[in-house]
This record gives sequence, structure tokens and C-alpha cells, in this order.
Amino acid sequence: MKIHSTLTGRKDDFTPVDGKTVKMYVCGVTPYSAAHVGHAMSSINFDMIRRYLEHKGYTVRYVQNFTDIDDKIIDRANRLGIPASELAEQHIAEFFHEMDALNIKRATVYPRATQELPKIIEVIQGLIAKGAAYATSNGDAYYRVTKDDDYGKLSHRTLDSMVAGARVEPGAQKEHPMDFALWKGAKPGEPQWPSPWGPGRPGWHIECTAMSLRHLGETLDIHGGGADLIFPHHENEIAQSESFTGKQPFARFWLHNGLLQLGEEKMSKSLGNLVTIKEALERHTADAMRLFVLGSHYRSPLKFSEESVQAADRGAERLRTAAGAVSKGNVNPVDPALFRKRFDEAMDDDFNTAQAIAALFDLAREINRGAEESRGVQQAQATLKELAGVIGLTLKESSGEGKTDMTPFLALIQEVGEPPKEMPEEMAKAMSHLIARRAELRKAKQFQLADRIRIGLGDLGIALEDSPEGTKWRKAR
Ligand SMILES: [Zn+2]
Repeated sequence: MKIHSTLTGRKDDFTPVDGKTVKMYVCGVTPYSAAHVGHAMSSINFDMIRRYLEHKGYTVRYVQNFTDIDDKIIDRANRLGIPASELAEQHIAEFFHEMDALNIKRATVYPRATQELPKIIEVIQGLIAKGAAYATSNGDAYYRVTKDDDYGKLSHRTLDSMVAGARVEPGAQKEHPMDFALWKGAKPGEPQWPSPWGPGRPGWHIECTAMSLRHLGETLDIHGGGADLIFPHHENEIAQSESFTGKQPFARFWLHNGLLQLGEEKMSKSLGNLVTIKEALERHTADAMRLFVLGSHYRSPLKFSEESVQAADRGAERLRTAAGAVSKGNVNPVDPALFRKRFDEAMDDDFNTAQAIAALFDLAREINRGAEESRGVQQAQATLKELAGVIGLTLKESSGEGKTDMTPFLALIQEVGEPPKEMPEEMAKAMSHLIARRAELRKAKQFQLADRIRIGLGDLGIALEDSPEGTKWRKAR
């Protein structure tokens, strides 16, 4: 298979160094506020890459960090009047909840900056000993870019061109404007850890170098992240890691996903134009979100709109219907081999998910036609489900809800009377029953029992919204 690397700017044959285990590091989030669909896009793309590598027979050791100490965390925690660690903890819990709902496989390890201080300090000490970094009199430590001959090789820029746009914070004792912080001396009231240069906290870039070295070793097979991390974050990771180990390359393949745009701009917390993952999952299934993201190549930018995700919702429905289609006969079975070949060839070409998905839709069409003609479709359906699973599609009505414990909902259905003959197995069906039952009760002026439904659902984290078009439900939290 061939994979494109940002470092070389071309597609190259991929096999892991040891032939078996792919060492993969993907930069994670700074848990200071709700994750948005831009994070979902990145997570879905790297989850797809990891799943496909596993489908090829490799073991993937997948490491993703949490930057759980940083200016934004400290600022927001101060405004909320809670410790920075508490804010980070809340958002990490929320992140896991949302990743599970999106059917993202869990990483092998989730290191956190605040838990990796010994390795971070060891790397900074090593860099200072080699002359690649220096400590200042005010307790900071910086990486010395002028000592690094190939600084700029990932973003394909020269040091001179970077200096033109550089802004140096007042008070920073830097030798060169592009030198970047490895350690930040403590300011009053900030969380701090002891170090040989005085109390403080690590810079952002150094944590990823320390975590990669500690959890994956000196050479990564794949390093991933959003295209907005190429400079300065990944450029700086390369500089630190290769200066520390003396080995090149730090990462053999650099993969960057294109950015998600809302309207004409990049979706970001700082611009304030974002849709949270929670909001998106209230309106769409995880499969729809995934089909929407993987409908474009991972390196391309993607525009988010309700209409596009709704179209993906209908696409997911088509795949689901084909996977469950019933044929009356078993003759002349539909052969899925050609579709599997197209799927694998597309994915082997730098994860061309758009073409792989096109093969799945064509297979779905063949299955539907075969079922109409009473041909055998079971083998083709097994292939459809398997390949959909390789890119993380569940083909379930609502992925996140498969994990919901239905017991309290069924108890509520019993309690308010007239339960259906077949008790629902999915949230969506339980909710449509309860909403219809509540409407009946209100019509019959049994308001107390009707209210019991609204209150009972509220206890289960479900909010009802009445409008002239009817009653809608959503997960409150
Ligand atoms: Zn990173």
C-alpha cells in the first residue's frame, strides 16, 4: 500500500519498521471546552487509517495525548473558579463519551502532559547538554533553532521566511525570534512542577516528543494530526526529537488531515464558529457523521453543512437497508469479489475513502437488485458489513445508542400503560412509542400520567420539546 507523507510530499510504499507493528502517534486535544466536529473529523480519519492497517493484518500501537496543562486551560479554569486539573478532567471524560458515541476505537495509551514530567525534564536536560537548548535567568528554557540545520523541512520553509512573520512576546529572553519554549517558568497562581531550571510547566511541543519516545520509541511509523499542526507544532517536534536522539527520521510518515470549515472559515474555538460533537450527534447518527467525513479524502479540506450530513444520513440508510434486505431465493448468488477488490485498491492508494465508499454503494445496489430477483445475497451482505466495519461504519440505526441500557425505558413504558406487543430494542423506537403515548394521554386529559413520561425521561437524561410540528426529543446532559 502507498501512503502520502507531508515530509516528502509524495506517496511511498508503506510497511512498518518491524514488519508487524505500526507505531502510530496522533496529537490529541487540549481539554478546556467542548470538542467540536473538527475534532470529530480528525478522529474519524485517523480511526479509519488505524482500522484499515489492522484489516491489513498489522497490529497498531496507537498513542494519543491529552495536553492537560496549557494557557487556555489555566485561563478558563480561573474564570470558572475551579482547579485546572478539574476542568481538564471534566473535558477528558466528555471526550471519551463522545469518541465512544462516534465509534472511535480507543487508543492503546492516552498519556497526559501532567503525568509525563520526568520524561519531559529528561529530554530538555538532554537538549541543553547537547547545546540544542538553553535555560534563561527567568526560569524558561528554549530550543535553539540556529543549531538545527534542517529546521523547516516539514513545512518546507526557511528560517529567514519564518522570522518575517514572527512575534516575540515581551519579556522573553530568546536568542533568536523563532526559538520556542520547552519550559515556562511559573507565574504566580499557576499550576507548577519543580525542574532543574526552577518551578514551571512544560511547553506544548516538548510533551509530544517525550510521550512518543516513552511510549513508542525513537522511530515512529506514522505521526498524524490536523494540517494546522504542521507548523510550528510538528516542525518543532521533529527538531526536538531528532536533536535529542541523534536519529533520523523521527517519524517515517507524516499524515495530516485537511481542516473542517464552517462557511468560508476554518472551524475553531478561537473564531467561535463551531458545532460541538454533542450537538451534531443529537441530529445525526455516528454512521452519517462518518460517511460525511470519509466521503472526501482525508487530506482535503471539508465544508460542514447540515445538508451534507443529512445526505450522508440517507446514504447510511441505503447501506443499512441493503445489509438487511431479504431475498426469497438462493440461486445465482451475488458475487462480492469485484467490490472487495475495488475497496482494497482504493484504500491501498493513500486511503482513498471516497472511492472505497463508492464501491460499497455499488455493492449495496447489486444486493438490492439481487434480492428483487430472488438471487442469493447473504455472502454479499456479509462482505458489505465487513468492509463497512473496516472504515468504522456500524450499519446500525443509531450507533451510540446501541450501548444505552434500555431497562429503565421499558419500565417507564410499562408504567404509563398500553405497552406495545413487541417491546422496543432501540432508543428511537422506545421514544416514538412514549411520545405517541404521551399525546394520547394528553388528549384523554390524563395530564398526571402524561407528565410522568416527561419527568421520567428527564431523569434518564432525555428532554422533550413540543412544537406545532409535534414533539421532538434530545439527549440533555
Ligand atoms: Zn503533538
